[in-house]
This record gives sequence, C-alpha cells and structure tokens, in this order.
Amino acid sequence: MYKLPKGTYDVLPEEIKKWQRLENFLHRIMSLYNYDEIRTPIFEESAVFHRNADDSSDVVNKETYDFIDRGKRSMTLRPEGTAGVIRSFIENKMYAQNNLTRLYYIGPQFRYENPQKGRFRQFSQFGFEAIGSQAPELDAEVISLTYNIITRLQIPNTKVKVNSLGDKTSRDNYREALVSYFKGFISRLCSDCLKRIEKNPLRLLDCKSCRKEDFFKDVPLINDYLSTEAKQRFQTVLANLDAIGIKYEVDNFLVRGLDYYAHTVFEIETEEALGSQNVLGGGGHYDRLVSDLKGPALEGIGVAFGMERLLLVMDHYKLINLPEQFVHFYLLPLGEDAKKKASELLNTLRMGGLICETDYNNRSFKANLNNADKLNSRFIGILGSDELNNNEITIKNQKTKTQEKISLNALYDYLKTAFTPQHSCNSSCRKEKE
Ligand code: AMP
Repeated sequence: MYKLPKGTYDVLPEEIKKWQRLENFLHRIMSLYNYDEIRTPIFEESAVFHRNADDSSDVVNKETYDFIDRGKRSMTLRPEGTAGVIRSFIENKMYAQNNLTRLYYIGPQFRYENPQKGRFRQFSQFGFEAIGSQAPELDAEVISLTYNIITRLQIPNTKVKVNSLGDKTSRDNYREALVSYFKGFISRLCSDCLKRIEKNPLRLLDCKSCRKEDFFKDVPLINDYLSTEAKQRFQTVLANLDAIGIKYEVDNFLVRGLDYYAHTVFEIETEEALGSQNVLGGGGHYDRLVSDLKGPALEGIGVAFGMERLLLVMDHYKLINLPEQFVHFYLLPLGEDAKKKASELLNTLRMGGLICETDYNNRSFKANLNNADKLNSRFIGILGSDELNNNEITIKNQKTKTQEKISLNALYDYLKTAFTPQHSCNSSCRKEKE
C-alpha cells in the first residue's frame, strides 16, 4: 500500500468542512479591513527565498525543498508566503496603483522539518501583508486585526507578545553586545547556538535549551540598544494598541524566525491546546524586503497563522459546530425507463438547488432504503413503471414516515415548499392581524 509522505496529511471530507468554515470566516474578516486575496505559485525561482548568502534563518537555510527543473532552473517550494507575495507586488507594479496595498493569502507552505503535533512538512498558512507604509499606527492596526481574528474565533487563553527589533543600527549594536556576552559562556552554549553566534546571535534568544541555563539571566536586552527613533516608534505602536484596547505583553526575547523583520515583531501564543508548538501565528514589520527583492524602497508589515494550528485549537475547545449533513431527495428508479426519466429529473432538481442522490449500482429496494437512511435523506422518491405510466411519483417523507403519490410535474414545487422555512409571526405581526 502506498503511504503519505512523512510530515503531510490528507484532509478528509469530514475535516474539509472545518477548513471551509474557517476560510469563509477569514475571507469575511479580511474584507472588513479592505484586504484583497492573492494566490501566488507554490514554487518560485529559488532566489526569491535564498536572497542573501548571510541569511541565518533555519526556514531559509535548512528547511527549503529546492529542486532543479527540467529546464535546469533552480526552484524552491515556498516555505513562507511573504516573499512570493512581495515578488508579485513588485512584478505587477501594485505600488503604482495604491498608496498602501493590502493582500492576504491562504495556501500550502513547505518546510523540511521534524514533524510533530502542529508541525508538518506541508502545512497551510493564512497570512496578510500591508505594503507601502512605515507608519507605526499601521503596525498597531495589523496586530489588532490579528487579535480580533483570534477573539472572533473565540479562542481562549491566548497571549499577544510584542517586541521591537529596532532599525539596522539598533540591531547591529545589539548584535555586537550579544556576541561579546555569549562569548563569555562559549563552552556552555549548545551546538546550534555555537553556529548561530557569529551568523545571527539574535537567534540565541530563541533557543529553548540555552534559555534555561543560568548564564542567560543577565543577557543584554534589545530595548537598551534601540535608537531614540526606534524607541519612539515602538512607544507609538504600544500607545495605539492601548488606545484600541489590545492586551499584550512586551517580550524582549521575541525575535521571530525570519531574517527580514525590523522594528515591530509579534506573536500570538495559545496557553495549552498545542503543547510545545504553541505559537498560532506571528509576524512583523519589514523595512528592506521589498528593495531586497528589487522593488522600490517601501516598507510593510505581515503576519502568518498556521491553519492547522488554528483548527487544532478550535477542535480542542470545540469551537466548530458543523451543520447536520443531509440529502434533500433520494430518487430510486425501478426499471430502465424510470432510470432514463430519473436522469432528467435529478438534473432539474439539482439545478433548482436541491441536494439529490440516487443508485447507480442496481442495489435491492431494501439496500436502497438503507442507503437513503445512511445519507440522512429527507425524502425518498420511488419511480416504478406504474408511477411512470401515470406521470406520478411515490414520495416517502422520512421524518413523518408517511407516503403519498404526487404528479411528477409537481415534484419540484412539492420539495421546494417542504424545504422553505414557514413564516412564523412575531408578536407585533400577530397584533397587527388581531
Ligand atoms: P513563520 O512563517 O515561521 O513565522 O510561522 C507562522 C506560523 O505558521 C506559525 O506560528 C505556525 O502557526 C505556522 N507554522 C510554521 N511552521 C509550521 C509547520 N512546519 N507546520 C505547521 N505550522 C507551521
């Protein structure tokens, strides 16, 4: 038997309904903030992701699926959504049409990681980008939208963490301070951090194992290295969050996994449901990504959520109530002439908006009744030769357990009336009648 590739999963029909619910919700809330959906390819020329030789993020360095296509071009399955969206933003000169471009996406991403609960090799992200402004107020708006998504989904026990990585000068100074600090404890660093110390010492702050060590307690904090402007900018973001009423925690250890962030970074954590993979989503401001991808010098801010993690948490808290599945009408034709008529009838009923099923396997009458039951059919229609000769059909109402013969010409209206909610008067309507 063939098996799924490691780190992937099938979304089976029962599950896909949850995905559709979540996606519908996301489409709705994004339109409130005037974001447009964008769909970019799942692979891009590798340079879109492998931009800088000194990129230190695991996502770009160690986890991409890279391949040479038959035209000998170097391609990469996208490990994240932002770079492809920015590539498209530049290629389609979206900056020429708008002051601020707001785009969102939902789609698969690929990272060669060690799979575990909430961590896959193919996973899906919902994300959004607001490109074309460096305003700190926009950072606050994006964080508040992120917060509103979680709140509207009613996910409890979450925490919004924010930090500022400052501008390039702030980060360069901070990097230097971190390197000289950690060099004092070089023999106690884990093997990963030994590699990170030169390339990107900020990533040491993320290390789950080193962070537990006592040498971490006096580690320099970014806040003390922010330039006056960067500090001022961060204060404006926080003041705006306060004004909107967003509860957050400033976490100086928050650095995020991708290298392109500057100034504001943030994450939404869930406190229980997901075990160690407790980050539902996160993002931040970027100041050079657009120009790194050979676009104009525009800044932006983006966020990405893991769809699987959102769904896992929503399942955990039983937040998705799916409507009962049913079939309006199960048609059981008996004999060749009836089958021919059935094709025509089913087509008309379906095009008229009714969910219909029938039998294509010549099952017995009893097996068909069982099947209709299994599918939760509200009505069963029996079309035998007698019925056909009289231009009639026998209708069984599965709820009332009654049956009657009606004219075939009246079938559509009969079913439509049965499924149209009856007007039930409210008290003012009753009063009017009295
Ligand atoms: P990132 O692009 O690394 O900032 O991740 C943003 C969000 O995507 C995370 O908070 C997760 O919810 C989700 N995510 C990242 N990597 C994975 C993965 N390998 N499997 C499932 N979800 C992921």
